[in-house]
Amino acid sequence: MNIEETININITSSAINVIEKYKQITKKAKESGGILLGQIKGKEVYILEVSTPNKFDKASIYSFNCNKDAAQVIINYEFINSGKKTIYLGEWHTHPENYPKPSDIDKKMIIKQYFKNKLNEPFLILIIQGLKGLYIAIFDGKNITETKLTIIDE
Ligand SMILES: [Zn+2]
Repeated sequence: MNIEETININITSSAINVIEKYKQITKKAKESGGILLGQIKGKEVYILEVSTPNKFDKASIYSFNCNKDAAQVIINYEFINSGKKTIYLGEWHTHPENYPKPSDIDKKMIIKQYFKNKLNEPFLILIIQGLKGLYIAIFDGKNITETKLTIIDE
């Protein structure tokens, strides 16, 4: 069975609101991004928090590179503060297109993150916020598969 058939990805309305705030609605707006943090309960994955761009990230109109040291500080903080329940689940960034698709660089990035990190779970999530639509995919070590996202209230 494929991974996207065995788990459901949920995100809190407050977390998705943060991502939507960074839509590149002006022509000169740079890409934004950050990491996804949350918890896993059985087959339900809950994205509870997202980090926002900081001064250590590298951003342009067509690219975003999340600073990994700054991200690790956030990961460690959330892990300790949640009684070791909240973990790193993946990455998000924006695209200046209506209905976003991952670029080759995006695919390489999520594969690299998967194999570089000692993950608690056998997958990573990639979210790309476009001007109108949202792209969400799951990488299980082999394939990047588009999937769906359920928005939940806390
Ligand atoms: Zn991208």
